Order: sequence, then C-alpha cells, then structure tokens
Amino acid sequence: MSILIYAESAEGKFKKVAFELASYAKKVAESMGTTVTAVTVNASDVSELGKYGVDKVLKVSDDRLTKFNAKAYADVVKQAAQKEGTTLVVLSSTTDSLYLAPMVAVSLEAGYASNVVALPVSTSPFQVKRNAFSSKGFNVTEISSDVKVIAVAKNSFGLVEASGAAAAEDFAPSLNDADFSIKVENVEKVSGKVAIADAEIVVSGGRGLKGPENWGMVEELASVLGAATACSKPVSDLDWRPHSEHVGQTGKPVAANLYIAIGISGAIQHIAGINASKVKVVINSDPEAPFFKVADYGIVGDAFEVVPKLIEKLKEF
Ligand code: FAD
Repeated sequence: MSILIYAESAEGKFKKVAFELASYAKKVAESMGTTVTAVTVNASDVSELGKYGVDKVLKVSDDRLTKFNAKAYADVVKQAAQKEGTTLVVLSSTTDSLYLAPMVAVSLEAGYASNVVALPVSTSPFQVKRNAFSSKGFNVTEISSDVKVIAVAKNSFGLVEASGAAAAEDFAPSLNDADFSIKVENVEKVSGKVAIADAEIVVSGGRGLKGPENWGMVEELASVLGAATACSKPVSDLDWRPHSEHVGQTGKPVAANLYIAIGISGAIQHIAGINASKVKVVINSDPEAPFFKVADYGIVGDAFEVVPKLIEKLKEF
C-alpha cells in the first residue's frame, strides 16, 4: 500500500506542482507510515521526484499520450492505483488534474474531495480541510470510502526537499480505443505569453486604466516579471482586453504567488476569484478602495505615475 500522486509534466519536464504534490504526499505518508509512488506520463528525468520524497516512480512512455487526453490519462492513474493497491490518490488543482480527479474517483469507486488546502486534519478517520465560499471560509470533509481521491489546491503546500532517490519502474497500462474516443487534434499556444492558470505572477488591470491604449505599461510590467496579464470583468466586457483575461467569480480563478491589481476597485466578485493568491498587491488612487482591505501590500497613487516607476526600478535588478 502506498500513496499515489499524479506528477504532471509538460513537454517532458515536471511542472512545479508535481514537486509540491510530492512534498505534500511525503508528509502524509510519514504520518500514515507508508510510502509515496508517482505515476508520470512521458516525463524525462523522473529522478527529480526523489528530491521531494517520492520513493517509486511508475514511468509511462506512450506516444498516444503526447497530448493530454482526460479519459486515457484517468485510466493510466486508475491502473497505477490498482497496481499499487493505493488507498489515497493525490492530484493537484491544475486545469488538467481537476479534469482527471473526479474521473479517477468514479473509476475507483472512491470518495473525492477537491480544493484541499492543508495536510489531513486526521488520517483515521480521513478528514481534510477544504476551501469554501470562494476562499472566504473552510470546511472539514470526511471521506469514508476505502479508496480516497483528493485534489490539493495550488500554493497550499510549499516545496520540501527530502533525501533519498526514487526507484523508476516502466509501467505500460493497457489502453484501448475507447480511451481515445475523444481526440485532441491540436493545441494552440499563445506564443510568448504566460497562461493565467500556470502563472506564478499575475499583473491585472481594471477600469481605472481608462482605456485599452494604456495597457502597454501593464504588459511591460508583466514582461519584466515574467507574469501573465489579466483584467477585471468590465474591462473585458468593454473589449479593452480579450475575455480570456477576465478573472474573478465569473472569470478564471487565480491562485498565483503574487497578484498585482492596478486600477481595480476590489469588488466582492473580483476578489472571490483571486483570493487564493498568496500575496496580493493593489495600486489604486482611492485610499478607500475595498481592495486595500484584502491586499497584503497597497500603494495609494496614480497608476500612470506608479507603474512606470515600478518598471524602471525592477529593470535595475
Ligand atoms: P471600477 O469598479 O470602476 O474600479 C476602478 C478603480 O480604479 C477604482 O477603485 C478607482 O479608484 C481606480 N482608479 C481610477 N483611476 C485610477 C488611477 N489613475 N490610478 C489608480 N487607480 C485608479 N468583476 C470582476 O472583475 N470579475 C468577475 O468575475 C465579476 N463577476 C461578476 C458577477 C456578477 C454576478 C456581478 C453582478 C458582477 C461581477 N463583476 C465581476 C463586476 C464587479 O462587481 C465590479 O463591477 C468590477 O470588478 C469592477 O471592475 P473594476 O475594479 O475594474 O472597475
């Protein structure tokens, strides 16, 4: 019996969430007196996982899995769990993993909890703390099924290095045509831009920026920081920015390490979608703007003066 994690990779390289998940699972395994196994798909240097506490890696290499395919990937994770006699499967909260997690849970007849934000409150009975009400509160959920599946929220557990090496084992799950009944034909990348879902830093602009012609400084700040750009709902409604950048309750959720809001008032519907970010910074000319109540750092000032100065300073580093 071991804990199984799905260690996500892109183009052969592990994403940071894979190491976060390994660190998390290691801590849980220690408290349960068990080990951590990772299943990987077409990843190259699987030894990296050992540095974060993974004891064994089931290495899947299959050209049919080059593009993410939820049904096939869910089958891979399920078969890995069955092979290892796993009672706890741990996934992350990326778009892909959130797609997989419920499918894996159904196929294993397992109870499932998403949005887990901390180490289990108790492992027997198995209880986890979860985000609720758009990160405004928490609840404790008990999973009583024999096999359990959880999805850990991004940024809820840091990287913890461990000593030890991961033993790699080739694993060839049996996949059939039904696994590929939905085919991903093409994946289009927005070149040169960081995707909001994967971004460590997000620079976001609101109606305070007055018009689309003023977004140059937002993009420049994002480029200096290696960040994704985002916006408030009215900004995308006004077609100042594409709808793909709209964040908040009705837009994309953001769980970045750093979220910088420029000229955004901090309406409840906006905050609901970005509240899971670790550090929130606001730049707003109105000291009474509600965003200051939730921000970790705030600059009261005119964005058109503050942002160019910030860019200038950052360029000095
Ligand atoms: P405003 O509220 O107009 O705020 C602009 C801010 O810019 C002000 O605080 C102002 O002081 C500041 N400012 C002005 N000039 C400057 C300057 N020169 N320098 C610095 N600061 C300046 N909104 C979202 O964002 N995401 C959502 O998902 C979302 N979902 C919604 C769902 C529903 C059902 C509803 C009813 C609303 C939703 N909204 C959402 C809209 C939300 O209520 C707010 O209207 C919106 O977030 C406000 O956007 P804003 O902060 O860009 O604009």
